[in-house]
Amino acid sequence: PSAMQSIDGELTGSARPHVLFIPSAGMGHLLPFFRVIAALATRDDVDVSVVTVLPTVSAAEADHLAGLFEAFPRVRRVDLHLLPFDSSAEFPGHDPFLLRWEALRRSAHLLGPLIAGAEPRVSAVVTDVTLTSHVVPIAKELGVQCHVLFVSCATMLSLLAYVPVHLDKKAGEPEHGVGDVDIPGLRRIPESYLPQPLLDLNKLFTKQFIDNGREIVNADGFLVNTFDALEPVALAALRDGKVVAGFPPVYAIGPLKSHTSAPESNEREPTGSPVAWLDEQPAMSVVYVAFGNRNAVSRDQLREIAAGLEASGFRFLWVLKTTTVDRDDTAELTDVLGEGFLERVRGRGMVTKAWVDQEAVLRHPSVGMFLSHSGWNSVTEAAAAGVPLLAWPRGGDHRVNATVVVSGGVGVWMEHWSWDGEDRLVSGEEIGEKVKEVMSDATVRARTARIGEEAAKAVAEGGTSYRSLQEFIGKIKET
Ligand code: UDP
Ligand code: UDP
Repeated sequence: PSAMQSIDGELTGSARPHVLFIPSAGMGHLLPFFRVIAALATRDDVDVSVVTVLPTVSAAEADHLAGLFEAFPRVRRVDLHLLPFDSSAEFPGHDPFLLRWEALRRSAHLLGPLIAGAEPRVSAVVTDVTLTSHVVPIAKELGVQCHVLFVSCATMLSLLAYVPVHLDKKAGEPEHGVGDVDIPGLRRIPESYLPQPLLDLNKLFTKQFIDNGREIVNADGFLVNTFDALEPVALAALRDGKVVAGFPPVYAIGPLKSHTSAPESNEREPTGSPVAWLDEQPAMSVVYVAFGNRNAVSRDQLREIAAGLEASGFRFLWVLKTTTVDRDDTAELTDVLGEGFLERVRGRGMVTKAWVDQEAVLRHPSVGMFLSHSGWNSVTEAAAAGVPLLAWPRGGDHRVNATVVVSGGVGVWMEHWSWDGEDRLVSGEEIGEKVKEVMSDATVRARTARIGEEAAKAVAEGGTSYRSLQEFIGKIKET
């Protein structure tokens, strides 16, 4: 878009909304924000600002934030310095990202002056679900629309919305956790599929989840990284008010696309990079293995995965993480995987602890399947690329997401494979067998290719997600 056009827009007095994004922490939350921010920042009829919470938890967050502002100079940066929060005293041993959400919630009152003071006047705030119960009331008081960019699936959004109603119905019954949840209009979610902390009503995560769940009906709308063909039932149940009566509008705008443009064809990938390595491999021959940006897998389980990949006989690209926060990950691959493994698989396997451009990996023609924890971004990226996903949920929303992997035709789910906190290893033999099975399953491959086509249609001009984004922009122009 040219500067002239944008000046014209202002001179002719057309409503030009200013959207202030307030993301939380963790790449699984930041990346979808960056993708929506990029989609709006390339339009000339919207102003965009982003609250940058400092300090960041991980190196990946710091790098990607810097990259965002460099790529989109029009996007304004509003820094928020968190108030001191001695989390280790209050919540010893808790997940650092969950603690960051809590720290942000406790600093949320600082957001009022940021929103009120921003120039031009803020017309809408788009925040993360983890901050909903704090940010919605602040925005309401200032007369600013408040939308939530929900970074998980519509099924998870239904769960979040319904859990408070479900608990109120059960009030009085002695209960330790949330129990099985029968979401009206959708499906029954057994307790064993829920994020593990929900089994204890006193957990910090559970308290945040319930507070946010109670407040979300007051949001002005939800942007969800999904599409109608992937979750038709959940989206209909939310939109028809079956889950919770009078639920705000749900804009299904996925699958969100990378905010960084693909390298130009004449720009070569650096030698030794995962993508350069994939360039050397035959079509659909590589098993891609990754469990997201913050899932540490135990050393014993990592060794079983290694054995399974070796036994499968297939080529593989494995992104391995041994800690929750990347800055803490100092382990040597040879120590983790045992002497000899990297030697034995040399040429047919690549293992890395670095950040890889997963979206580019999944779109690479050499990749034949994806062994994944089924973090929601990973699921949508696999769906968009039409790559079959073998879901091995580890925690949080992964099992709920895995139900969508199956119902949406993105791949298969090993329901009995272990879940974080369970003292049980999945053997290398079983992993190797399952990988072989999925790699040679033409039916699964065909279904995933079909959902990939649906994904492309959804975001193309006139598609369901394209239209949802237009509707959202229409809504923020109403102020
Ligand atoms: N990701 C990536 N490279 C990495 C690790 C992660 O590009 O080395 C991206 C991945 O593509 C996805 C996000 O980080 O977009 C992780 O989100 P997801 O919901 O899959 O899992 P989480 O990390 O939140 O558990
Ligand atoms: N979540 C939510 N409400 C909250 C907090 C989290 O709906 O108050 C969702 C969050 O978006 C994620 C899921 O609960 O989809 C599980 O969170 P987890 O701890 O696994 O973190 P994440 O994978 O999102 O980084």
